Amino acid sequence: ATPTAVMVATGKGASQGVLIKGGNALEKAHKVKTVVFDKTGTLTVGKPAVVSSVLFSKFSMEDFCDMTIAAEANSEHPIAKAVVEHAKKLFQKYGSQNEHFTDVKDFEVHPGAGVSGKVGERIILVGNKRLMRLFDVPLGREVEDYVSENEQLARTCVLVAIDGKAAGAFAVTDPVKPEAARVISYLHSMSISSVMVTGDNWATAIAIASEVGIQKVFAETDPLGKADKIKELQLTGSSVAMVGDGINDSPALVAADVGMAIGAGTDVAIEAADVVLIKSNLEDVITAIDLSRKTMSRIR
Ligand code: ADP
Ligand code: MG
Repeated sequence: ATPTAVMVATGKGASQGVLIKGGNALEKAHKVKTVVFDKTGTLTVGKPAVVSSVLFSKFSMEDFCDMTIAAEANSEHPIAKAVVEHAKKLFQKYGSQNEHFTDVKDFEVHPGAGVSGKVGERIILVGNKRLMRLFDVPLGREVEDYVSENEQLARTCVLVAIDGKAAGAFAVTDPVKPEAARVISYLHSMSISSVMVTGDNWATAIAIASEVGIQKVFAETDPLGKADKIKELQLTGSSVAMVGDGINDSPALVAADVGMAIGAGTDVAIEAADVVLIKSNLEDVITAIDLSRKTMSRIR
């Protein structure tokens, strides 16, 4: 594209909240045949809320919440924010009125799985089944039943283990964005196929995918695994765009032919992406590809 055409197109994009980082990004976007969507915060609103909780152990609700809050308060993940908010309410309902959220030591993030740390003398894990497997925490019938019941309902379960034993869990829902299904069907009409890649579990992922009309799903992938899936799709000769919010998907944004950061995004996402969709609206994936197609066709 000529410098002038690029300037016109990027200017037009910017006025609609679609920031295209230069001519190279603009040129690559018109060839896109596959769009890969992250789930949490991209296809879904990204404001998860806890809808139920359960205790599996003899800990009091107060102590259980106290330790969970201490661990999750350090996480940036939207699920962690939902868990903290809910646990604080439970804490107030069941516990003493004075807050005593204990500090956490040796805090560690396990991307796409959860967090771990030490609260007092106890070791606490908060995350999904993969995190529990990573730390060899056995899950009994009661836990498995709670998890599968909720996953069928497209809910994500957050498991809490204390000193190597399942202590309790939360079920979290995160509604899909109202425009998601429409955008995916419109992309289909442009001969562009849609794929979901997520760190979340298979059952929840498939439930959300069918809600928005996506047939190809990769679930239970960590951040580097997401990037690998992009590379696999590229091997089939397809030019691939990746749309993500930057939480656990920056490597995938970099690996894609066109990385699109959605939302206010994290700084990492904005850095990693070729295109930034600042309105958080999935329609802008189409805006970006359209703009690129129009600019490129005018040149030939
Ligand atoms: P997505 O690909 O859907 O955006 P992520 O890769 O961000 O999902 O996270 C994958 C999964 O890891 C989440 O669905 C959740 O089960 C778990 N997880 C990650 N971080 C946390 C956390 N801080 N607390 C609880 N669960 C977490
Ligand atoms: Mg995400």
